[in-house]
Amino acid sequence: MSRGGRTDNSTPGQRRCVVCRTVHDRHVLARYVRRDGVVTADPERRMGGRGAWVCQDARCRERAVKALPRVLERAVDRARRERVDPVRRKV
Ligand SMILES: [Zn+2]
Repeated sequence: MSRGGRTDNSTPGQRRCVVCRTVHDRHVLARYVRRDGVVTADPERRMGGRGAWVCQDARCRERAVKALPRVLERAVDRARRERVDPVRRKV
């Protein structure tokens, strides 16, 4: 029940559904990645880049269609901002 630090991938082989936030075995989750600004399914789960996982719940799949572009964009944005921030602060 700890909320600090170990959240997403604390158990090897398990991932969190980005829609309902439930942790599942990665074999039952579908992976999506953002490539060149387009969200693509990654059936083999081995594409590079920022990935998002969605469980088999029909509602999650449905919502993921809308949510994934934003989820993945936010993740990329955050990574970029963290990298840029120290520079920006100086300027
Ligand atoms: Zn789900």
